[in-house]
Amino acid sequence: MIPALGPHAPDLRQAARREPLGLYLHVPFCRDRCSYCSFVTTRDESLKAAVLARLHSQLQDWGRALGRPAVDTLYLGGGTPSLLSASELAALTRAASEAFDLSALEEATLEANPGTLDRPWLEQALAAGWDRISLGVQTLDDTLLGRLGRIHDGKTALEALAWARAAGFQRVSADLMVGIPGQDLGRILADAGTLVRAGANHMSIYLLDLDKACALRAQVDTGKLRLPSEDEAADVFEALQEELPRLGLQPYEISNYAAPGQQSRHNNRYWERRPYLGLGPSAASQLGRWRWTESGVIHAWIEDRGSAEVQELDPAEALAEIPLLGLRLHRGVDWEDLRARARAQNLEPLVDSWEAQLAPFLEHGLLLREGPRLRFTARGMLLSNGVLQIFV
Ligand code: SF4
Repeated sequence: MIPALGPHAPDLRQAARREPLGLYLHVPFCRDRCSYCSFVTTRDESLKAAVLARLHSQLQDWGRALGRPAVDTLYLGGGTPSLLSASELAALTRAASEAFDLSALEEATLEANPGTLDRPWLEQALAAGWDRISLGVQTLDDTLLGRLGRIHDGKTALEALAWARAAGFQRVSADLMVGIPGQDLGRILADAGTLVRAGANHMSIYLLDLDKACALRAQVDTGKLRLPSEDEAADVFEALQEELPRLGLQPYEISNYAAPGQQSRHNNRYWERRPYLGLGPSAASQLGRWRWTESGVIHAWIEDRGSAEVQELDPAEALAEIPLLGLRLHRGVDWEDLRARARAQNLEPLVDSWEAQLAPFLEHGLLLREGPRLRFTARGMLLSNGVLQIFV
């Protein structure tokens, strides 16, 4: 049963029929916890059978409840999905394709920790239908990897990338982290070049985020390590903004760069506010006007306890999310279309007030109007946080 669905079932079913969904599955296992990590994950692999059983039954329940809707992007995240055995991965993929209509699937991404891969596993993942892999590289500097508590070193990361390409993955993304204590700009740029030359055709740049409690936060708080200042981090983002296009990866979102045709279609759907269903502990879903999050407590999730209630989005809140998320994209948002939507809901004064607040950013060259579209300039992308606050 799906308690969260309740009285919203007809609405959700209709929303799921309107356009294909993205399906996200969360695999909450990691061999070790990285020092900066606050994701929902555990080292206790004895829970694997129970977690997989619940994921399988969730797939069946949701597929049935929504009328086996079409899914065009699939994403297996975590945690460390590459800790599933090849047969567990194949069974989960089969369960997804039985419960949902994957006949028009455009992309199937799996996240992988370079420290857990081997070539046979990659070949079997590809054979099971996964065509894109996202590697959590972060840096190729072994000292920094040790500081982050990662289980891999730089050599292993490059080996994993080479195996992925050799196994037949044409679409390989690498995560690169900015803001690690002790990291220098030259090394980040060199790592980016090495990864692209090794075959990465997509790169996601993350700023080390220590907002939540974690081991690295404690080391920073006690003065053992120093985080780079905001200005230093901004310098790195600016340098990458110049370097990655030289390497053939163009920006398409504030933190994401891709070779032609290699943008993440699944992630694009989040910024375009297109519907997605997330299954697994802490997974979030958005369908029509509705949104909910599964329990982030793994034991509770296994026992189907503690999921957030389905929340209906207020129309003004839903409208604000269009620029809040859409401006992250390099192509920005269709402002004329946004205004038309606002008009249809009697929300035009809201758009007027946003325009008044955005005017100084347009004057100072952080934003640009191009025909009906509004988008950030390259400099605006670096200072986007302040601008996006307007829509929060
Ligand atoms: S691999 Fe990812 S999810 Fe797992 S502990 Fe490290 S940062 Fe967290």
